[in-house]
Amino acid sequence: MDRRIMGVETEFGIHYSHPGTKPLTPEEVARYLFRPVVEWGRSSNVFIPNGSRLYLDVGSHPEYATAECSTLPELIATDKAGELIMNRLVAQAQEQMREDGFEGTIYLYKNNADSQGNSFGSHENYLLQRSTEFRRLSESLIPFLITRQLMCGSGAVIADSTRINPDSHPGIPETPHFAFSHRADYVQEGISSSTTRSRPIINTRDEPHADASQYRRLHVIVGDSNMSETTQMVRFGSTDLMLRMIEAGVPLKDFQLDHPVQAIRQVSHDLTGTATLRLRNGRRMSALHLQEHFLDHARTFIDRHGAHHEHVPAVLELWERALAAVRTQDFSDIDTEIDWAIKHRFYQQYAARHGLGWDAARLAQLDLSYHDIDPDRGLFNLLTRRGAAARWVTDADIEYAAENAPASTRAALRGHFIRTARERGLEYTVDWTHMKLNDKPICTVMVKDPFAVTSDQMEHLLECFPRCATPLE
Ligand code: ATP
Ligand code: MG
Ligand code: MG
Repeated sequence: MDRRIMGVETEFGIHYSHPGTKPLTPEEVARYLFRPVVEWGRSSNVFIPNGSRLYLDVGSHPEYATAECSTLPELIATDKAGELIMNRLVAQAQEQMREDGFEGTIYLYKNNADSQGNSFGSHENYLLQRSTEFRRLSESLIPFLITRQLMCGSGAVIADSTRINPDSHPGIPETPHFAFSHRADYVQEGISSSTTRSRPIINTRDEPHADASQYRRLHVIVGDSNMSETTQMVRFGSTDLMLRMIEAGVPLKDFQLDHPVQAIRQVSHDLTGTATLRLRNGRRMSALHLQEHFLDHARTFIDRHGAHHEHVPAVLELWERALAAVRTQDFSDIDTEIDWAIKHRFYQQYAARHGLGWDAARLAQLDLSYHDIDPDRGLFNLLTRRGAAARWVTDADIEYAAENAPASTRAALRGHFIRTARERGLEYTVDWTHMKLNDKPICTVMVKDPFAVTSDQMEHLLECFPRCATPLE
């Protein structure tokens, strides 16, 4: 099996509802939320025993960055574990707040924008060989990323498109409607070194968290935050397949888009997938055609080279089914597996029952509720319990991943190091590549290889402390 290191970062939206009780700012709520984290790790930026990172930046969007994973089940369970961990923090914060006289309710949303129009992200990280020419890679990948919303958009109720698109992009319906993607309207550039200022599709900041002469970390920041495990499977799985083809030098034709930012919005707001996008070479192609082209190539590639992991057939099959659903406009074949289709089905049924249009405030509320990570209250979780949203990992996998690092990457070393150091009461510092005991900074262990699952240096450091007097190589 040929594996790739992958990780996903999720920024959560916070809301505090306090009818008739004392208010709190989002920053204050976030501080309550992270109080146990700070008590545990003396910082609001910590690595936890499952190898992942919990982080509260300035502002109020708590972030969870998964440990490095190398299989789809690991990645999806570790990402979902982030929701579990956040829910536990919410429960503790609510208790503390009540003791302090704050009676309101905290809501955490795994979505991509708040009601003020601030967007926050779901960043994907893929390890690449440095030898892959980055320019060629991004030229081939961007048209895929712009159109993959057909199978991995989280769906969005657009009650008022003039509000979301102040610069009024041509082709976007002005009437209320349903769109594929939540994030698409906030993308401002194709490729850039900034993640927030210009919100690109690919971020070029070169921080490989690995041997820079051998590897690169591709930072894709255009994705919607997915709730559905099956949608995540096809999202990460198809993107990995695209990268494999690019790395292998498969000619994918020149589909560079004339105006990537306009194209991504155009695709999002056209549920038929047929609106034509202008390519740089003067041709026009629809999102559906572009995706069908990529899928065809992926199938041929796998037929020729064999599947590099056991889930490739599932990825290809759901990818194909999602495109077929858009082509035929019959979404019933994917409406338990693809976020936007799960939503679309539920909202349509709800709207029909109550005689509502896409501008109804109740639908906008449900659109928020879908992303509410609360296990009992959140709409997606409710639909899952009803069998209206499919599973791809189990609750047991997710609970395991909340406590244990993925076994197939260096995250396993980090998890072991954190656990052992804490058990022994040793002060330590870790990041993606380093582990050190604060009393012995000279013995810092560096694990540049993200696939490493053993480290004699680390074992030595943990064993010999506090006798370790000589620097480790
Ligand atoms: P920002 O939050 O400012 O976007 P960032 O993207 O640089 O920061 P983190 O939030 O720390 O970094 O998240 C890094 C992500 O990259 C994690 O999900 C991690 O698992 C993943 N990762 C770490 N090393 C590698 C690697 N060598 N290749 C691919 N992914 C990696
Ligand atoms: Mg991050
Ligand atoms: Mg990031």
